[in-house]
Amino acid sequence: MSDARTVIFEQPGGPEVLKLVHRAVGAPGPGEVRIRHHACGLNYIDIYQRSGVYPMALPHALGMEGAGVVEAVGEGVTHLTEGDRVAYASAPPGAYCDARVMAAAQVCRLPEGIDFRTGAAMMLQGLTVQYLFHRTVPLQAGDTVLFHAAAGGVGLIACQWARALGIRLIGTAGTDEKCALARDHGAAEVINYEREDFVARVREITDGRGVDVVMDSIGAATFEQSLDCLRPVGMMISYGNASGKVPPFDLGILGAKGSLQLTRPTLFTHIADHDTCQAMAAQLFEMVESGKVKIRIGQEFALKDVAEAHRQMEARSTTGSSVLLC
Ligand code: NDP
Repeated sequence: MSDARTVIFEQPGGPEVLKLVHRAVGAPGPGEVRIRHHACGLNYIDIYQRSGVYPMALPHALGMEGAGVVEAVGEGVTHLTEGDRVAYASAPPGAYCDARVMAAAQVCRLPEGIDFRTGAAMMLQGLTVQYLFHRTVPLQAGDTVLFHAAAGGVGLIACQWARALGIRLIGTAGTDEKCALARDHGAAEVINYEREDFVARVREITDGRGVDVVMDSIGAATFEQSLDCLRPVGMMISYGNASGKVPPFDLGILGAKGSLQLTRPTLFTHIADHDTCQAMAAQLFEMVESGKVKIRIGQEFALKDVAEAHRQMEARSTTGSSVLLC
């Protein structure tokens, strides 16, 4: 039994509901490991959970990814041993802590060349980019993708991943500085959607054709306009709701706008199977170790400053990935 600081919340609300408490961490049961974290990752899903957009049984711990060292291994776990350096993205929430016991299936051995901060910063966002580009719609070199929030955590990884695959990524972001960052990371074109009409710009950039795929994590504020950026039979991947959930709509608009396709995926379907998750992580590690994708940690916070970290993310003042240090 050991002691660990853990972030919990007892009611949905703003960053102020987050509380740091001390909890005993026990021995891992069958199929579980105990991990001592060096760092944990911050993701926009943590904000949906804290604020009640994704309701949870309360009180609950928060945080979906971390990196550290395996302290103890439960019965039946064969891919990890005590002392392994590891990183993961996984439900249930509870990664904002010094140490935890959790299911081992989604925990991956971290290559020597990747440090703990990078490991904590990249798993959830990097595995998301992996499934968006490789497991959601067939994409090939030369295809054009519109990618919103291109200077964020998922966004900067996506810009580089697209460049490596020869995909022409048009990135949007809320400031000119963020647009420049997205371009530096591989976006072929950038649009400041706070001051430019992104539908008109996309039509211009694609000579009126429209893009093959839109990857939209903004939700309510961009949904309809994103559909207007697609070519006939193009694919809309709506995978987040930073501006609020997409309200119910008439399916007929997909027909009217050109027989469009639509999917609303989540990472957690893709990583549910142990072998698939480990294979996805292996590809992510390869992208990072080869230098094709560099993880930009734009912000680091002490675990006790988690509320400030949430404030900055919600204020759209972060770029790249953010981590909490344990
Ligand atoms: P980001 O670092 O991208 O932060 C969110 C960004 O969204 C902001 O920086 C901001 O960029 C943009 N944004 C636009 N409108 C708003 C708004 N009204 N309020 C707040 N932000 C806004 O976060 P992550 O990299 O962690 O995640 C990116 C998105 O991907 C999130 O929506 C997340 O939920 C989604 N996601 C979905 C997954 C899935 O499997 N379905 C998995 C992982 C992430 P700007 O100022 O440039 O507009």
